[in-house]
Amino acid sequence: MSDKSEYYQNNKAKFKINYDEHREERLIQNKIYRENNKERIKKYHKDWLNKPDNRVKWNAYQRQSMKKQYKQAKYTLFNFLGNKCTWCGILDKRVLELDHIKDDGEQDRAKLNGRIHFYYAKHLDEAKEKLQILCCNCNRIKKYERQTSSRHLT
Ligand SMILES: [Zn+2]
Repeated sequence: MSDKSEYYQNNKAKFKINYDEHREERLIQNKIYRENNKERIKKYHKDWLNKPDNRVKWNAYQRQSMKKQYKQAKYTLFNFLGNKCTWCGILDKRVLELDHIKDDGEQDRAKLNGRIHFYYAKHLDEAKEKLQILCCNCNRIKKYERQTSSRHLT
């Protein structure tokens, strides 16, 4: 063990406190560094990507991060909309889904490129106007009623 790492091992707790205490400061410094070194960081990342196996690692990381963000957005949205079926009140998350109140989900998905959860988690006022939570039973009933009523109209 080198002197340096031995010193670190002996003072781990002290380092940890120092690290936590200066979190804000560090975040600001990192941001400034990133702003000032955009091109350098871009090049570094590009070089890193071109090394064997890193592309696969990166894609996996991106997928993982996307999944996490999706989960977070869904959680925010469902919490905001009450976490239960608007019609029957069932709370079981396994059967709850998002429903477009005015049945314009298809247009909405096309407009938002499928990123419904991401968009509405950031625009909760709009979500309140357009979306509700239904369970799959109630959603099925809603669809059925819409179809039969439009059949009557035509
Ligand atoms: Zn229901």
